[in-house]
Amino acid sequence: MLNVDLHCHSTVSDGLLSPAEIAKRAHVHGVDVWALTDHDELGGIAIARATASELGMRHVTGVEISVTWGAKTIHIVGLQIDETNAQLVKGLYDTRNGREKRARQISDMLADVGIPDAYQGALNYVGNPDLISRTHFARYLVESGTCKDINDVFKNYLVEGKPGFVEHRWAKLTDCLTWIRGAGGVAVVAHPGRYDLTQLQMSAFLDEFKQLGGVGIEVVTGSHTPDQFVEYAKVAERYGFLASRGSDFHGPGESKTELGSLPQLPRNVVPVWHDWF
Ligand code: AMP
Ligand code: MN
Ligand code: MN
Ligand code: MN
Repeated sequence: MLNVDLHCHSTVSDGLLSPAEIAKRAHVHGVDVWALTDHDELGGIAIARATASELGMRHVTGVEISVTWGAKTIHIVGLQIDETNAQLVKGLYDTRNGREKRARQISDMLADVGIPDAYQGALNYVGNPDLISRTHFARYLVESGTCKDINDVFKNYLVEGKPGFVEHRWAKLTDCLTWIRGAGGVAVVAHPGRYDLTQLQMSAFLDEFKQLGGVGIEVVTGSHTPDQFVEYAKVAERYGFLASRGSDFHGPGESKTELGSLPQLPRNVVPVWHDWF
């Protein structure tokens, strides 16, 4: 059975390792088929592909796109995309665009609750100036002793209702699907178990995603519990979605799920890679 890991991050977004380092780590951990899926960014793909090729590991071109649906943030993974596609490149550029201003607002809000200089602090962790994310703030809040770990940060800061939460408009779902499909790729809902949606909202979302040409959902992901592997395998069956598997690894010591270390997909689903090789 192939060890497939189609979701992780490098320093080009909010991961801790460079694209080459993360490719090597995936290989060391037994991954056969691998995608780097940086947030709203394609800048790591060339090195990811070249390093994977040197290692004899199959590489799949990927990205994780931030979407606003209703008032909620949803992540969509695009796989098998042509990363030179002009519409996709432009769409991701526009999606990244508001991050700098948002980061300054986050910093101002943190200053209001007695945490000064968070913008500068977060910048120390940023590998790509176009992509300052909440993760970089989270690392700073841990380093500066405000929070004991990253989990603690996302419980008490940077999330709805807590200091440092800034509402943000990401890409529209319809545009995201247009970019991915226009670039020859397939669209997969990232970690569906992680969204704060009612059952009714979730099914409305999945209907709309499917109607727009979305084909898959992550079933086995580092963001799901084992119960959720089963739950989302059923969802995949019910909607006729293909299933994906990905660690969502961000870095050693930070991510609890290692590259290539998740269980295989349940047997009742069709893998998103079923017709790729
Ligand atoms: P942003 O795109 O700037 O809103 O940042 C989103 C990123 O924050 C996600 O991709 C995760 O890496 C991280 N994140 C969000 N929520 C959590 C959480 N509860 N625990 C750990 N990391 C989280
Ligand atoms: Mn992330
Ligand atoms: Mn995500
Ligand atoms: Mn991710």
